[in-house]
Amino acid sequence: CGVFGVFNNTAASHMTFLGLHALQHRGQESAGIAVSDGYNINLKLGEGLVTRVFKQEDLNELKGDIGIGHVRYSTAGGSDPKNIQPFFAHFYGGSFAIAHNGNLVNANQIRAELEKNGAIFRSTSDTEVFVHLIAKAKEPPPSHIMLHKNDTEFLPLVFSAMSKVRGAYSLLILREKQLIAVRDPYGFRPLVLGKSRDGSYFVASETCALDIIDAEYLRDIKPGEVLVIDDAGMRSYFPLDHAENPKKCIFEFVYFARPDSLIFQDWVYEIRKEMGRTLAKEFRVDADYVIPVLDSGLIAAMGYSEESGIPMEIGLIRNHYVGRSFIQPKQEIRDLSVRLKLNPVRQVIEGKRLVVIDDSLVRGTTSKKIVNMLRRAGAKEIHLLLSSPPVISPCYYGIDTPTKEELIAANKTVEEIREYIGADSLYYLSLKGMIESANKHRQKGFCTACFDGNYPVL
Ligand code: 5GP
Ligand code: SF4
Ligand code: MG
Repeated sequence: CGVFGVFNNTAASHMTFLGLHALQHRGQESAGIAVSDGYNINLKLGEGLVTRVFKQEDLNELKGDIGIGHVRYSTAGGSDPKNIQPFFAHFYGGSFAIAHNGNLVNANQIRAELEKNGAIFRSTSDTEVFVHLIAKAKEPPPSHIMLHKNDTEFLPLVFSAMSKVRGAYSLLILREKQLIAVRDPYGFRPLVLGKSRDGSYFVASETCALDIIDAEYLRDIKPGEVLVIDDAGMRSYFPLDHAENPKKCIFEFVYFARPDSLIFQDWVYEIRKEMGRTLAKEFRVDADYVIPVLDSGLIAAMGYSEESGIPMEIGLIRNHYVGRSFIQPKQEIRDLSVRLKLNPVRQVIEGKRLVVIDDSLVRGTTSKKIVNMLRRAGAKEIHLLLSSPPVISPCYYGIDTPTKEELIAANKTVEEIREYIGADSLYYLSLKGMIESANKHRQKGFCTACFDGNYPVL
C-alpha cells in the first residue's frame, strides 16, 4: 500500500490526490482521503484507481488544511470495500483517521482478545486493531518521555498501541489539528518527510510523491519514530524502550518502489541497476540481445547490458492500459492476460539468442508465458535471468506474495523451474549478490525473509 499526508496546505485534499496518484503503483484496489478543517474530519473512500475514486467536486468538498490518504492492495483481510482506508474513529478525546502501509503479525491474537472483551470490528483488516488499541489505551506514557503539552492526551494512546502490536507499520494518523507519522521499530516499509517552499509539510511512502507536488525531501521518518506536526511545530518521540536492528524490505528495491524514488536514503534506480550489473558478473551468457521484461525488469536489464557489453533491445512491448484491475471473468481470458500486457517485437527476436531479464519470479506462470511467446516469435535461445534470488517464503510484512504452495521456488529446484518455464537456461541473482548490490552506497540492515526464510519478527 501507499500512504500520503499533508500539513498546513489550503489545498490539502488536492495535494493528497496528487500524492496518491504518484503512489498508485503501491495499490490499485481502492483509495481514500481524510481531511480535517481544524474541527472536523471528513473522508471519502472508493474502489479502484485514484482518478476513478475522486472527481474535482469530491476534492473541493473535502475542505481543510491537514489530510492523509491511502492506496490499497489487499495483503491482509481481502478486498472487501469495508477494508478501504483511511479508517475513521471517535474516541473520548475527539476523532482521528488512520492510514497504514505494512502488515501486523499478531493482529489476529489482539483482535480475538479485544472481541472477547466485547469489541466490535467493522472490517477484516489488521489495521483496525490499531484503531481499537488507541481508543482503549489507559496506560500512562513511558516514564523516559517528556511530552509537549499538545501531546499529553493522544500520544500516550499511540505509544501504548505501538507497544502491543508486532510487525510492519508505516502509519499516518490525522487528528483535528495534527498530522502524526509513525514507523515500526524495524522500519520495514519506507516513509519520508518533505517540505514545500510555502511551508507545507508532507509525509509519503516514497519521494516520487513529493516530486509531483514540488516538495523537497527532508529526511526519512526513522524506525521506531513518532513524528507530530502541528501549529506548535514538529516533535519526534521514540516511545519503544527497546531498539531493533533495522530490517528494511529489500523487495522494495527489487520490485515494489518506483525507480525514480529515494527510499531508505538510497535511490531505487541506482540499486536496481547495480543488481543488474552484479547479475552480469555472476552469470555471463553468449547472446545477441538483452531484453527487459517491462516495466519491472528494465533498470536491472540496463545494468546487465552495461556490465556485459551485450546491447539491450526492447523485444517486448508493454500495453500500459492493462492494470491489475483488468476484468478477467473467464479462465480462457485470464490465460490471455500476459498477451494483453506484453507482445513480442518479431523483428528484434527472430533468430536471436536472448538474455531476458525480469526482477523476480514468483509463481512462474508469467515467465512461462513470456518464454513461450518469445519462442513462437522465433527466438533461437532464451536465457531467463532474475535480478533477485528465488522467492521461497511468503511475506508477512505487507507485500502480496502468494502462499508457499503457489511459490514455485518453494516447491521446485532451479532445474525443475527451468524445465517448467521452457527456457534454455535460468539464473537467479545470489542472495549475497542482491544484498551487496543494495549495500553499495550506505544501506545496512535488510529484511530478506521471502528469499531466505529468516523472519525478523513473527
Ligand atoms: P511470475 O513469472 O512469477 O508469474 O511473475 C513474475 C512477475 O510478477 C515479475 O515480472 C514481477 O515484476 C511481478 N511481481 C513481483 N512481485 C510481485 C508481487 O508481489 N505482486 C505482483 N502482482 N506481481 C509481482
Ligand atoms: Fe520485503 Fe520479503 Fe521481507 Fe516481505 S519478506 S518485508 S517482501 S524482504
Ligand atoms: Mg514484472
